[in-house]
Amino acid sequence: MKGIRLHSGSSVQVEELPEPTLGSRQVRIAIRAAGVCGTDLHAAHGRLPVPALPVIMGHEGAGVVEEVDADVAGVAVGDRVLLLPSETCGACPACEAGHLGLCPGARILGMARDGTFAEQIVVPVSCLRPLPDAIPFEQGAILADAVATAYHAVATRAAVTGGERVAVIGCGGVGHHVILLARLLGARTIVAVDASAGARRRAEAAGADVVVDASDADVRKAIRRAAGGEGPDLVIEYAGKKASVELAIASVARGGRVIVGGVGMESPALGPLVSFVGREIGVLGSMGYTRAELGRVVELAASGRLDLSGSITARYPLECAAEALADLANGRGDPVRLVLLPGASP
Ligand SMILES: [Zn+2]
Ligand SMILES: [Zn+2]
Repeated sequence: MKGIRLHSGSSVQVEELPEPTLGSRQVRIAIRAAGVCGTDLHAAHGRLPVPALPVIMGHEGAGVVEEVDADVAGVAVGDRVLLLPSETCGACPACEAGHLGLCPGARILGMARDGTFAEQIVVPVSCLRPLPDAIPFEQGAILADAVATAYHAVATRAAVTGGERVAVIGCGGVGHHVILLARLLGARTIVAVDASAGARRRAEAAGADVVVDASDADVRKAIRRAAGGEGPDLVIEYAGKKASVELAIASVARGGRVIVGGVGMESPALGPLVSFVGREIGVLGSMGYTRAELGRVVELAASGRLDLSGSITARYPLECAAEALADLANGRGDPVRLVLLPGASP
């Protein structure tokens, strides 16, 4: 089969690889669509440690079951499925609570083991979830990463309530879905903050009421003015930068809360305690999601209440993975999510 492997020295190569073989309680999937995430880019550029080099890249995918181990019940050849982005241990308190993002033993696909940028993948049955017919493979491929992660941030960590003013800083892949979900869950005013004009345009299409250019000289004031009143009740950050987290803390209203979902190695400061404590700001990280939240997101997408038709902004044959990564790195076409389509002709 064809697969895209990352080697040391940041080299990404299309390779002819042996078909993966089935182990106990495992399932083989023919990948129909694989999402390309910012994390893949960090891995390919050497900004994240990748423990299993060389490795088939990718942690977002959806496809059709091709072969099932005899020990597996409830999954049959021909089933449409989406893949979870990591293999979890299944035994720790986080796994028992269904919180997939917090398992300390999680092995992320495409990093700690072979991933989805291939014609086939073998995973334990716990890595699968049925994909309803109403959801196209390319949308199914992003549900368990860009969409469910946004749902956990908005619905659970932020616990957004009807009538709240919300600002979203960083409106790329996950941030875009934060806007869609904040709208769906009843936010009153949504302010989208991004330095890219294309991302701001897409944010408006996703339901943002006002857009603010993150490179504006006084962006804090612009966010507060756009939100009205004293500023946003809730700021959700998905840029993963020191400056953007500090901006979130500086712009949120008194008594407001900041949800930080962007991941990186930078160290933001809280600012003077007299302001941070005096304004009673809440700051929470948000990582991953639970199985129940993923189920909710699948339901919302299948019913059409959550419209993901604007989420896939470019499609590439599998062989063009390096081009897709370059386009994501350069922001070509103002990407929300790019997908690779194994089987499509180059
Ligand atoms: Zn991802
Ligand atoms: Zn675990």
